[in-house]
Amino acid sequence: MDIHSHSEPNRVRVTHVSLDLVLDFEAREARGTAELSLERLDPNAPLVLDARGLLVENVMGSGGGPRDFALGEEDEQLGSALTIALEPLDRSVLIGYRTSARSDAMQWLAPEQTADGEGPFLFTQGQSIFTRTWIPLQDTPGVRVTYDAAVHAPEGLTAVMSAEPLEREDDGAFRFRMEQPVPPYLIALACGRIEFRAISSRCGVWAEPSVVAGARDELSDTEAMIASAEALFGPYRWERYDLIILPPAFPFGGMENPRLTFATPTILAGDKSLVALVAHELAHSWSGNLVTNATWSDFWLNEGFTVYLEGRIMERVFGKERAEMEQVLALHGLEKEMAELEPRDQVLHGDLAGRHPDGGFSVVPYQKGALLLRRLEQVFGREAFDRFLTRYFDEHAFQSITTADFEAYLRSELLERSPALAAQVDVRRWIHEPGLPEDAPRPSSSLLAKVDTELARWRAGAAPEELETRGWVTQQWQHFLQGLPETLTAEQMAALDRSFHFTASKNSEVLTDWLTLAIRHGYSAADARLEEFLLDVGRRKFLKPLYTELAKTEDGLRRARAIYERARPRYHAVATGTLDKILKWEA
Ligand SMILES: [Zn+2]
Repeated sequence: MDIHSHSEPNRVRVTHVSLDLVLDFEAREARGTAELSLERLDPNAPLVLDARGLLVENVMGSGGGPRDFALGEEDEQLGSALTIALEPLDRSVLIGYRTSARSDAMQWLAPEQTADGEGPFLFTQGQSIFTRTWIPLQDTPGVRVTYDAAVHAPEGLTAVMSAEPLEREDDGAFRFRMEQPVPPYLIALACGRIEFRAISSRCGVWAEPSVVAGARDELSDTEAMIASAEALFGPYRWERYDLIILPPAFPFGGMENPRLTFATPTILAGDKSLVALVAHELAHSWSGNLVTNATWSDFWLNEGFTVYLEGRIMERVFGKERAEMEQVLALHGLEKEMAELEPRDQVLHGDLAGRHPDGGFSVVPYQKGALLLRRLEQVFGREAFDRFLTRYFDEHAFQSITTADFEAYLRSELLERSPALAAQVDVRRWIHEPGLPEDAPRPSSSLLAKVDTELARWRAGAAPEELETRGWVTQQWQHFLQGLPETLTAEQMAALDRSFHFTASKNSEVLTDWLTLAIRHGYSAADARLEEFLLDVGRRKFLKPLYTELAKTEDGLRRARAIYERARPRYHAVATGTLDKILKWEA
């Protein structure tokens, strides 16, 4: 049972979705049809779907003729149940509908919100429960579907989907087919003025013309990442792995849409320092897309596993030191965030009763989940644990599973086979209790230790220009900024800025750390840059800490709300859902 879906797949189950949609950029709506193929487990039951912000115009049954349908009362978070009365012969239904301004999955961008400013742009974001706002279906990750689509786009724009592209036919529509069953949140569409550059025979990148060449260079290690992941965890099963670099309004770092990762341009730092995100999205091709959380309470099965795999891929492609730095930073982030979370949000198997799946969003399922797997690797040895993981992916491929399913599999395939080792790790506590167990692996990094040395010298009075920072990489600068003391003054920040030019940084991670400090310590020379960044970038990971820091003082909150008023129309619903709460914004 998925508490975030109205659907009743145990009675009538959707198995395939066939879309035919016209994208109308002027009206900012998609309209057309969704044909849903059905498996009728209970021949007397109606079809129950999820829908939110959709205008359903008519429903036809494959047995012939229109079918009665009703939209139930709307739940603020879940939307409505769309109930369709079926006739005995119906094997599918054809739903005529259009999207609306309340279709939160779809973000329509004006030309000026794109890199080149020459055409509009559309992308969808389905995770967690937004697919129901652009396609009426059983929007639960427990129901996997295959899909195909015909997308009619305006002249000059290219449509891409999380699916195999097919030949365009006479009508000019872009056509797609996804033959592997995926959870609905992985059905994704983007459309804009984009071009493609190959990285290898099976991977490449889409982006706007002014971005695509740089993106190709920045992401040139992607093929090596795929090969590494395959060597570790078995074959890549989705044929192609492409990426699309979206405009900065995209609310996430990346979204692991199968065959086509959607990514923020903020990972293009110019020095490959932020490509761990690609390793992460690629790793989802195993954990998340191949083996999927059955409900959003099992989200850590997607993300904890993926962060673990990401670390292993980064280690293979970029070396142990890079992977260790990223793990140390991640652990610091986890400890800081966990300290502010109520106990129920510190638990891996999340309690989301009465909440939107994104309501409990934190780094806990990501980092605490990965630490559990690192702990298991430590206890059982890398070789044995890799064998376990490869089999786990193999035996659950194209299935959606719960935390209980995982626990049972772990018990029978790993723990019970080596009871003496199993006694060293309390898996139940890791998964079901708050906090971080004492046996959590504590990574260390010699490269970050060097930063600590320089921080100590700075605290002892050394001037910024005397510090040994030559050759420092992004992660070292982040560690430096995160290690500055609470007593930092605006004068000290000005001196640091003169030497290291943080306010002018083009690296979004470093810049976010710096701007957070600027707000906290009243360094007003960064105000203009802060405002520019908040108006330009829609990635929640950066917006959340910056607005949170602003909201801590009355004056800051006023400033934040003034910026937010202008920026909010440019943010995706995923971001405004979080920010409205922080800024006490009445939409
Ligand atoms: Zn992820």
